[in-house]
Amino acid sequence: MRASSKAQKHGLSHDTEREFGGTLGAICIPIFLPLTVLFLICTSRSPEASLLQWPPALPSTDQLWDPLAPGLLLGWIALHAFLYLMPLGKVSEGLVLRDGTRLKYPINGYHGLCISAVVLLLLLGLGVPLGYLFELLLPLAVSAIGISFLLSIYLYIRSFWAPLHGLAPGGNTGNPVYDFFIGRELNPRIGNFDLKYFCELRPGLIGWVVINLGMLMKEVELRGSPSLAMILVNGFQLLYVADALWNEEAVLTTMDIVHDGFGFMLVFGDLAWVPFTYSLQASFLVVHPQALSWLKAAAIVALNGAGYYIFRKSNSQKNQFRRDPTHPSVTGLETIATSTGKRLLVSGWWGLVRHPNYLGDLLMALAWSLPCGFSHLLPYFYVTYFTVLLIHREARDERQCRTKYGPAWDTYCRRVPYRIFPYVY
Ligand code: NDP
Repeated sequence: MRASSKAQKHGLSHDTEREFGGTLGAICIPIFLPLTVLFLICTSRSPEASLLQWPPALPSTDQLWDPLAPGLLLGWIALHAFLYLMPLGKVSEGLVLRDGTRLKYPINGYHGLCISAVVLLLLLGLGVPLGYLFELLLPLAVSAIGISFLLSIYLYIRSFWAPLHGLAPGGNTGNPVYDFFIGRELNPRIGNFDLKYFCELRPGLIGWVVINLGMLMKEVELRGSPSLAMILVNGFQLLYVADALWNEEAVLTTMDIVHDGFGFMLVFGDLAWVPFTYSLQASFLVVHPQALSWLKAAAIVALNGAGYYIFRKSNSQKNQFRRDPTHPSVTGLETIATSTGKRLLVSGWWGLVRHPNYLGDLLMALAWSLPCGFSHLLPYFYVTYFTVLLIHREARDERQCRTKYGPAWDTYCRRVPYRIFPYVY
């Protein structure tokens, strides 16, 4: 059989619809997003912290490079690779693949977080100045961007040795630039070590809260104690990361693991974008301290709590329903049948809007920005970007669900007309 007809047999047509602006997006995004990361870090520590400042705050070459940074980063990744391989926690199976098999994944990311916390406490006890991460942030970001490119090149090359059924449905267009960007191989593994699953929640996500802690320690160095705003930002984001790792098994059914190939888009997102742009509020607060009253702090904690409640309850309800639809917590919910045999929830959280989990996530994102006050736009970068990301992600998911469920999906959309924000969108 020729390669192209083989590919079609596996649902891997070269005519696959292209996402993220196709080839143009695949050329521009790997140039533009790394520069955005560096621009945002520089801006967050400039006195003006203005996104509109002209000329923009540009770093000098010696601010961009420190040989300590790549060493630290590789050591961090190696530590988490070691913890991934440790026989800690249970082992779960992913969804059934096209060849009928299921891959096994260690569920020990939360152990990784706890062990990282112990290591950090030991380092603090030994007097290691964690606040130095503030000075090292730009060289660390440059190193993470470099590692993302190298890993993506490796992934693209090795994908040509992967079996056809191991390629992602959207990553085999035959256009090298687009395939490099979107990812050709679905589950690249070295032995049992799953590269995509490893990168998804561990070095970058845990790295994000470590950077936040470094910014808090820098504040202690500068002002003697951490500010209330810094404590809130650290606390909220730690809760988010701990929750993601506590519920790590749920990642096995997400679009990233089930559908997307592992290419530059996910590698860069996991290793560079998340840790270095999600920590912007903390790095902004080091240079731009904000006074926060207890009353305002209480209102922000309540907003984060409400967002977390909606996010966690809706995600858990769907995960429970998908794992065991006969479980007492979900049997009372109204559902509609689909031609695939799977049912769709039309009451409970998933009857409120079609993505209640995104709504909760966005409320939390707003709560992470509010401690930074209203004097600057920069701390609101995350909530703005995240709104765009989730609206785009919702559209991608909607397309996939319409293909999967056909008329049943249209019935669901009629029953639950709003996508993310009730009565608005
Ligand atoms: P979701 O958890 O929203 O899952 C979407 C899938 O759920 C659909 O493909 C469908 O899959 C199933 N589904 C949709 N509607 C229903 C229904 N009514 N009843 C039952 N099943 C339904 O996917 P995401 O991966 O986008 O999001 C997971 C979480 O991660 C979210 O909370 C999101 O906010 C968060 N997130 C955070 C990011 C960050 O950077 N902080 C980035 C991206 C996501 P099927 O029917 O096949 O089960």
